Amino acid sequence: MVDATEERVSSILGQIRSNGGRATAARRATITALLEAPRNHLSSEDIIRKVRSQQPEVAESTVYRALAALEDLGVVEHVHLGHGPSTYHLTGQAHQHLVCGLCGKVVEVPDSEFAGIAERLSAGYGFEIDLRHFAILGRCHQCRSRRPAPSTEGAPG
Ligand SMILES: [Zn+2]
Ligand SMILES: [Zn+2]
Ligand SMILES: [Zn+2]
Repeated sequence: MVDATEERVSSILGQIRSNGGRATAARRATITALLEAPRNHLSSEDIIRKVRSQQPEVAESTVYRALAALEDLGVVEHVHLGHGPSTYHLTGQAHQHLVCGLCGKVVEVPDSEFAGIAERLSAGYGFEIDLRHFAILGRCHQCRSRRPAPSTEGAPG
């Protein structure tokens, strides 16, 4: 039985080769790190840490270059979920992120949810939105349904 991660890594490397890119060891390790991460999202520092924990001989700058090359090849993209460092994910399952400003929860939604607004902005302003580069901030379902804390605690009412 073939390991599922291994199979996906091979398929992504195949995609790179068919786009004229090379499947280097650092690129393979970077893709593997993202696939093995919980929810498949990591900062560049996390990726470097993970890759070097498996292959200490790989230099930090090599991983950075691999990450940049994978972005150029369209296999990986970075998104800004908030104020911290940007987050990398694989483009295979492209999605938009909704981030709760209260609890930090991230909800992934398909791009198609934004088809209407994309069309309206294109028709009305001739502007093509780059939807996935930044997250949409707000409040999640759980935080919205949580009752606000009473401001006059203990007061007779
Ligand atoms: Zn950016
Ligand atoms: Zn993502
Ligand atoms: Zn929340």
